[in-house]
Amino acid sequence: MSVRTRLGLLHALLVLALCLVGALVSDSMERALLAEVDDALAARAASVAGDVRVAFRPGRGGVAEAIRLDPALADELAMPGVYVQILALDGSVLRASSDLVAGLLPAGGAIAPARTWQRTITAPGGERLRVLDVPVQENGTSLAVVRVASSLHQADVALRDLQRLLIIGGGLGLLALVLATWALVGQFLVPLERVVNTAERVAATGDVNVRVPTPDGGEIGRLSRSFNRMIERLRSLLASQQQLLADTSHELRNPLTVIRTNLGLLRRDLDAETRFEVVDETEAEADRMSRLVADLLLLAREDGGEAVEHERLDLGVVVEQAAARARTLAGGREIRCERPTEPVLILGDRDRLLQMLTNLLDNGIRHTAERDEIALGLAQQAGEAVLTVRDTGEGIPAEHLPRIFDRFYRVDKARSRELGGTGLGLAIVKHIAEAHGGSVSVTSALGQGATFTVRLPLEERSGGVVN
Ligand code: ADP
Repeated sequence: MSVRTRLGLLHALLVLALCLVGALVSDSMERALLAEVDDALAARAASVAGDVRVAFRPGRGGVAEAIRLDPALADELAMPGVYVQILALDGSVLRASSDLVAGLLPAGGAIAPARTWQRTITAPGGERLRVLDVPVQENGTSLAVVRVASSLHQADVALRDLQRLLIIGGGLGLLALVLATWALVGQFLVPLERVVNTAERVAATGDVNVRVPTPDGGEIGRLSRSFNRMIERLRSLLASQQQLLADTSHELRNPLTVIRTNLGLLRRDLDAETRFEVVDETEAEADRMSRLVADLLLLAREDGGEAVEHERLDLGVVVEQAAARARTLAGGREIRCERPTEPVLILGDRDRLLQMLTNLLDNGIRHTAERDEIALGLAQQAGEAVLTVRDTGEGIPAEHLPRIFDRFYRVDKARSRELGGTGLGLAIVKHIAEAHGGSVSVTSALGQGATFTVRLPLEERSGGVVN
């Protein structure tokens, strides 16, 4: 159900509740007004009944006669405000107030001499009257019935005023509330709908160049900014995927061309030495392709967000393993390993960390001469494990340093190929370091070797979470 429909329902409920409260207020007001009139009527009836009893004296003739003639009753009946009738038991009017217009009160008809009878009637002119019949008894004998009545005009006017006030006040209040909520909700809904529409458009068309306006401050501003950031991230991810695809095709084309050319050559009648050379070159290109595909798979796994293990491990042990492996490939180069005797504990993925150090050491070996040395170091600094791979080889020209960790970025493409590089080694290093909550940096200058530094949070700093 949309927010607007929900709001409409809420307002309908509010109107209903308001009507109910209004009806209750008006009803209790009517009751209070009636009670006031009834009290006045009861008092007046009691007073007239008292006079009737006084008027009737045994021995002064019949009851009707006594009432008709009693002069004291004339004063009672002359008092304004409440209409009075004194009725005989057969319903005939014995006496009536002087201001009682003929026909205002129903004459004769049903009377209940044994009990008090209270009701509201509508007079022929449309005026509402409250009527009270009170029987007058003396020594258990019914003498007459006193009927008192009062106009409800005043009460009706007060009640109508109150109802008008409730309807106008409540209606205006409700209207203000509805307008205010719609304005407020509109303020939220319009930008929200814009975000939803844009998201739907992105999903339907794949167009990641759209953005939504970002109002200042507030939740909607934050939502819009986050949405734009998300789209921007999506755009850059897509762009880097496309770039990767283009780079990968390009990288694969070279070895494939070499392999196909060499296969063509092998069909020819070559001497044994040339044939060996061609086979060797083909093999080397095939190896490079395998490494490239393996590195790509590794990167795809990292990009796919495959969870990194976070087992508690001693980096010193991983460092030793990496150094031992590098020594088997180092030729005449010395691989030194400097690490503290105490364990350096981090939460990490042993295989990936080994892969990271292997890539750095392989690069060191590839870019150094036989007599050079490569030093692998491990230390603890300010809550971090600091890994360094330093070599005394050819170094990297300063202008290449900012892009050295990019995929397929190489200082000398031809030489990298010659050395069997894929151009992905350092990109993988960066990925693994960052996946452990760490970072990698390089310092180097042409002819002065290179130092790669990886910083990883120590176990107590990483708080047990590695993603
Ligand atoms: P590659 O497979 O070409 O080695 P990398 O991503 O591992 O790809 O390295 C990128 C480039 O960085 C290399 O081509 C090389 O030019 C340069 N490089 C990396 N490590 C070193 C190093 N220790 N000394 C000199 N240059 C290096």
